[in-house]
Amino acid sequence: MNKEVRVRFAPSPTGYLHIGGARTAIYNWLFAQKTGGKLILRIEDTDLERSTEESISGIMESLKWLGVVWDEGPYFQSHFIKEHQIAAQKLLDSGHAYKCFCTKEELEHKREKARKNKTSFKYDGACRNLTFEDIAKKVKAQIPYTIRLKVPLKQGSVVFKDIVYGAIERKYEDIEDFVIVRSNGRPLYILSNAVDDTRDRISHVIRGQDGLINTPKQILIYKALDSPVPEFAHMPLTLDSKKAKISKRKHGESVAVHFYKDHGFFPWAFVNFMVLLGWSTSDSRQIFSREELIEAFSLEGINRSNSIFNIRKDDPKFFTDPKAISINEHYLRNLPLEKIEPYIKEELKKTKIWNPAFEGEKHNWFLDTVDLIRSRYHVFTDFGTLGRAYFSEDYPVDPKPLKKNILKHEELKVWFPILADRMEAIEVFTIEETEKVIRNMAEEFGIKAGILINGTRTAVTGQAAGPGIFDILIAIGKNRAADRLRRAVKYFAA
Ligand code: GLU
Repeated sequence: MNKEVRVRFAPSPTGYLHIGGARTAIYNWLFAQKTGGKLILRIEDTDLERSTEESISGIMESLKWLGVVWDEGPYFQSHFIKEHQIAAQKLLDSGHAYKCFCTKEELEHKREKARKNKTSFKYDGACRNLTFEDIAKKVKAQIPYTIRLKVPLKQGSVVFKDIVYGAIERKYEDIEDFVIVRSNGRPLYILSNAVDDTRDRISHVIRGQDGLINTPKQILIYKALDSPVPEFAHMPLTLDSKKAKISKRKHGESVAVHFYKDHGFFPWAFVNFMVLLGWSTSDSRQIFSREELIEAFSLEGINRSNSIFNIRKDDPKFFTDPKAISINEHYLRNLPLEKIEPYIKEELKKTKIWNPAFEGEKHNWFLDTVDLIRSRYHVFTDFGTLGRAYFSEDYPVDPKPLKKNILKHEELKVWFPILADRMEAIEVFTIEETEKVIRNMAEEFGIKAGILINGTRTAVTGQAAGPGIFDILIAIGKNRAADRLRRAVKYFAA
């Protein structure tokens, strides 16, 4: 590739960053990284009624969380309206555009007629050939006008090669002379977007498939302005499991990037997941480090078929696409502890069970405990919920195992305090020693070790499942475990 690569992510700030937009941003970023090019962030905020400050900061925050770093910007489209108007004037001056004085009513009338004749409406170019005098007269009379681009009348078509969808052709005769400036003087998005891409020297427009409909018209604009035409790569859509388009309205927060931040995803795991929505390598590899992904990524590898974001809500564990969870689990389990530590700290702070000693004298204990429990967890929030018993005395007790593992066995009322005493008597509190104590006690009292073990697990963690009981006891520590066993007797009284 010999020309300088400059790509842009150009969100309209009318809501949060959703996974479709985020994926487009990531593909742009990857392409820039891969080619040594530049990524520009352009906020397309010309829809003044719908654009909000909150959305702008939310989008930027989500991009930062994902690690999508832009090289230039943010540029704001609204700052360049004058420039878009100048471009329209240039098109008028060069004869590539004309003023259209047709009123809304006239157009509606023609549209209605087409509907009746069951033909598709296309503006008939009524104002295309007005004389200079006609135009001057109408302007003097202050008749409002729009500006329309002249689409060639000759036979032919706009042809371009989309990097993803291949050759695309749109006949001139199927494109009407479209409006580029409204009658209130505001440029249309289709013009602003092309003018901005020219000014920002964008080499590749990588955007959602919904942009494809605009591309032939935009190519006509570039050509009329004598501007270089960028290359185009349109991304397939992301659909839900029922094949409906993912949308903010329909899917709410569960398609927002910040939802995944709030739900304790490791950002790179989420990037890894999103990249695979519509892109793959021939060996269907699933896990990529940043470097590996940059190395493997290509626009040509983007699939043409729509991708499925399989939001499942039937199981609380799968509050989102199970693949997103399984990729997150992979990172959670395999990353060096120091990489995940800050996220867990954040989570424990949020749930008010963070203790500064976890960074001080209990640091090694903290890391060992995280290492012990992480293989059972899916997201960082699990550390502040399922993991509470390890980090705090304020932990919930799940009523089901409480009943099954403790209350069903009245004898535990007597055994728990004895076990507590025996544990406290252990000098060096190791896995081997605790195991010996429990097994000896089971034998001595003629009880099933399983009853003692399951009861102990629920007494010290409040849960039914977890790591091996002896590991749990070491993590909880001798005194805390003994206290919890003694306190568990009170469950029988309740
Ligand atoms: N602002 C447009 C959107 O959010 C982007 C179009 C483009 O990338 O050209 O859909």
